[in-house]
Amino acid sequence: MGADPKTIAVIVVAAGLGERMGGAPKQYRPLAGRAVLARTIEAFTRRRDVTWVLPVIHPQHAERYAALGLSHPRLLDAVPGAATRQGSVLAGLEALGERAPDLVLIQDAARPLVNDAVIDGVLAALGAAALPVVPVTDTIKRSSDGRMVDGTEDRRQLFAAQTPQGFAFADILDAHRRAAAAADDFTDDASIAEWAGIPVTLTAGSARNIKLTHPEDFERAERLLGGGSMETRTGSGFDVHPFEPGDAVWLGGVRIPHGARLKGHSDADAALHALTDAIYGALGEGDIGSFFPPSDPQWKGAASSVFLKHAAGLVAERGGRLVNLDLTIVCEAPRIGPHVQAMKAAIGAAAGIAPSRIAVKATTSEQLGFTGRSEGVVAMATATIELPRED
Ligand code: MG
Repeated sequence: MGADPKTIAVIVVAAGLGERMGGAPKQYRPLAGRAVLARTIEAFTRRRDVTWVLPVIHPQHAERYAALGLSHPRLLDAVPGAATRQGSVLAGLEALGERAPDLVLIQDAARPLVNDAVIDGVLAALGAAALPVVPVTDTIKRSSDGRMVDGTEDRRQLFAAQTPQGFAFADILDAHRRAAAAADDFTDDASIAEWAGIPVTLTAGSARNIKLTHPEDFERAERLLGGGSMETRTGSGFDVHPFEPGDAVWLGGVRIPHGARLKGHSDADAALHALTDAIYGALGEGDIGSFFPPSDPQWKGAASSVFLKHAAGLVAERGGRLVNLDLTIVCEAPRIGPHVQAMKAAIGAAAGIAPSRIAVKATTSEQLGFTGRSEGVVAMATATIELPRED
């Protein structure tokens, strides 16, 4: 076994009044139907490598924050920020002090389109400090009075800083504490690391990881989140369970009286297991065993609809939707045909989709092989999902 994984905390800085655009503070405004801050927080709570997510909010926004109704095992209670961004980040770092994470990512609430590729890049580069950037494409002019050009910068040496910015927790906490005594106008945390002499590594940001500042930024972000930014993905699942003495089998969420039962740790519903793995496959996640270890006694005899619900829940958590499920069951007996409609209803109820988006088919293997000898059941499944495109 390797060393314990590092603990990773994420501070989501949402403490600005956010009134530059007028109306509701920008971090609480809906973006394609979901509050900006909720989207930013969920970009991190959905990651299994993140240990804690800590929002830092404006003291006047406690009710607005509560109204978002956010709840997640990795989400900590929000803490109040300070008058400056720098002060708010320090408040968040101090609030994490007792937990003492190994690493901390500091994320602006106004970048709700942050994606896994950017986050992965920052984490991979830590280390001491890592900063996602994009190359500057405009030619940059220097002017001391805003009227006359003094010169032109070499843009090959210029990069625009994004978030999340990542740090070794103890180092950035120490740097922030010392910086607080020196100045209060650092505009990002990499600047504080630079000031403290911590080496900062550049990583790849994303042109999609925009900061919402002006009303037109919201329009652009909504376009990026719109239909054109969804992608279709497919996954497959396969499962086998042997028969053992018994009086009924569970298949497709339906109990079918039979002269044997299926052997397994849970209710051994091979059909629901194959469907669940198909969804995990489409998500690029692990498999049932990685989420629900057979070594864990709480899954003994469990109804397998729990697993299917979990997989469908992950799709929803990532802002996606389940498009269809296709299941094939291979066995000589029991006969599946009479139970197809009941299975479609049970699968639809667990997965949260209409039975019209589910196919249940059955075949024998013409008395060949272990299914042909009625030693067990095979189930195969395909899942199609739509997910927000992230790269
Ligand atoms: Mg199984």
